Formats: sequence, C-alpha cells, structure tokens
Amino acid sequence: MRGLAAGNWKMNGTGDSLSEIEALLAQHPAPACDVLICPPATLLARMAAAVQGSGLKVGGQDCHAAASGAHTGDISAAMLVDAGAGHVILGHSERRADHRESDAVVAAKVTAAQAAGLMTIVCVGETEAERDAGRTLDIIASQIDGSLPEGTDAARLVIAYEPVWAIGTGRTPTNEQIVEVHEALRRQLQDRFGTAEIALLYGGSVKPSNAAEIFALPDVNGALVGGASLKASDFGAIIAAL
Ligand code: 13P
Repeated sequence: MRGLAAGNWKMNGTGDSLSEIEALLAQHPAPACDVLICPPATLLARMAAAVQGSGLKVGGQDCHAAASGAHTGDISAAMLVDAGAGHVILGHSERRADHRESDAVVAAKVTAAQAAGLMTIVCVGETEAERDAGRTLDIIASQIDGSLPEGTDAARLVIAYEPVWAIGTGRTPTNEQIVEVHEALRRQLQDRFGTAEIALLYGGSVKPSNAAEIFALPDVNGALVGGASLKASDFGAIIAAL
C-alpha cells in the first residue's frame, strides 16, 4: 500500500503560509508517498489552487454531519469538496475534547463525508490515564466500533492512531506500544471489512528525527503530523522518510 504523509495544520496559517507549500513542492516534486495537507478552512481553496497539478492533496480538518442549514460556523462535506478537498480528518481528539464530539457524532460525520465523496481519516487514541489503567486496546476498539457507522466504505477510510498524551508533547509511545495498537486495529478492521488495505497512520509528535523509525514498524502506513507539518523543511524530511 502506498504510504500517506498527512499534515494537520490545526488552527495555524494565513495567506503567508502558502509559501511553505511552494517550498515543499519545490523540494519534493515527485514524492514516493501520497502527501496531504489539511489547512484551516480559510486557506483550503487557495491551497487547492496552489497545488493544482502537483499531486499534493488538500483536505479539511472537520465537517458537519448535515448537508446544509442553520449551523453557524460549521462547514458541510460538500463545501469542503467545493473548496478542493479530497480528504477530511474526523474525530480528532481536539474535536472530541473541545467540542465534546462523541463517537456517534463522529460516525454521522463519516456517513456525510463519504457520501460527498471524501476520503475520511478517522482518529482514535487513548488518554494517558486510560493507558496507565491498562485500557488502551479496549478504548481504541470501542472508538473504532462507535465512530465507523454501518455502511462505512472501507475504500474511503483511513485510520489515524493518535495517543492523546503524545500530541504536541514531544513524547511518543515505544515502538512496541505503536505496533501493539496498530496490530489490534488491523485485526479489528480486517474482521469487520474483510480487507487489509485500510491505511493506518500514526500521529503524535512525529518529527524528522523519529519518522523513519516509526514508518519502518509493521502496520504503520504513514503519519498524521501536526506541528512538524507547518514548516516545509520538517515536513519535507518526514515525507522523504516514508
Ligand atoms: P503533533 O504532531 O503536533 O504532535 O500533532 C499530532 C496531531 O494531532 C495530528 O493530528
């Protein structure tokens, strides 16, 4: 399976930041993996125009489950497509925490996004307290169960394992801990969908210095990168490691 290096810019970036994309394209005109950037919604259309014809893909960071209507501040899946997105991140732990998104809310968004033709990157991950209590695999399994609705199209699905305690902290799980979760995810998805072709991304403090080691692990098909995706030099080095 082709690897995927996905950058999640979170709430960072204005028009000036498009120069990072130009630098990235200049550095990596033909990367060996798929490369995706999910900028804030305000930059989506401009970034889509900037990468046109390059093979670099752009995506959203969230969408609403409804097609349209009275939802101030929200964005529908069709609006993301209209702005040039081919992917959307759903169920990121920051959405789950800041906006109290439950598994059921995430599942409704997956249905809407896939119906609009988007590839859905569904995020799961345990908190530090859950890991310390030995509940990691149970938590992940139940997030997968609850966040993937009936009728999920496995061909439009990517899973990102992002331990909450590793996001933005500089801390990463051990290789064994990553492999344990990715193997469990692979088994669960194989049992449910009958395919081993769903890409499994690791996310949480991925940087140039640890990317190659993480990408070499079994059942790791790429990364969802936050802070290190903001600078072309760092993200470029991560892309080169995949
Ligand atoms: P960092 O790479 O900044 O730890 O963020 C990871 C993340 O949350 C990507 O979605």
